[in-house]
Amino acid sequence: MKSLQERFEEKVELIPFSTCHWWLGAPNKKGCSSFRIKGAKETVHRIAYKFYKGPIPDGLCVSQTCKNRLCVNPQHLTLRTKDEVRKSGIPTIRKNHSKTLQERFEDKIELIPFSTCHWWIGVEGARGYGVVKVQGEQVSTHRFAYELYKGPIPKDLCVLHHCDNKLCCNPQHLFLGTIADNNRDKCEKDRQTKGEENGDAKLTTEEVLEIRSLRSKGYTCQSIGDMYDICRQHVSSICRKKAWKHLKNKVINQ
Ligand SMILES: [Zn+2]
Ligand SMILES: [Zn+2]
Repeated sequence: MKSLQERFEEKVELIPFSTCHWWLGAPNKKGCSSFRIKGAKETVHRIAYKFYKGPIPDGLCVSQTCKNRLCVNPQHLTLRTKDEVRKSGIPTIRKNHSKTLQERFEDKIELIPFSTCHWWIGVEGARGYGVVKVQGEQVSTHRFAYELYKGPIPKDLCVLHHCDNKLCCNPQHLFLGTIADNNRDKCEKDRQTKGEENGDAKLTTEEVLEIRSLRSKGYTCQSIGDMYDICRQHVSSICRKKAWKHLKNKVINQ
């Protein structure tokens, strides 16, 4: 038999980059959520206060210092008088707050045919990475995705992309590296993108221009890949000018 506290804690979720403890139940009109104990309903932050901090004196309210009405982290809970609560300016909840942060994040991820990347279609930051707001702080989406799906990022490590796609949030394309690895990785990928002068290059400048021209005529990446014996992902990155960047503005002479 589970204790009341265990049943309560099953409905609490921790989210990367957020220090709040998020209650997973649906919020009511006021943005709070309640939980039934022995038939009587009580708001979850009051219940949490009693579990972790002690009794609530008569006439006092429990309110969240983080202003997140679904937060039950005892360290964010404080006692206030009704008057103080009124003046504290806790915003009323917006409609989509009933979704968890993870759901709101995943709403902005798109899968694209022929790409194994999970593309972030939300806001892009200055460095070309996706950004998501967590408790008012901007967090890069690939870092957020790493923590969400794979676990905490150790201090001093970066999250790098196998696929070199800054907007990709596919956890299988993300790996940890040091800042030095990050720079080395960038150099290596840059060398690949310089193409023909690299001895391993499969394609000539001429072929790259042909590929882009074929793609613009509507050939699929797969069919072009078959013609040139390269994978469709590579065709796609050539056509999106992620690879062979230095040929960006060249067009085939016909
Ligand atoms: Zn909180
Ligand atoms: Zn990817």
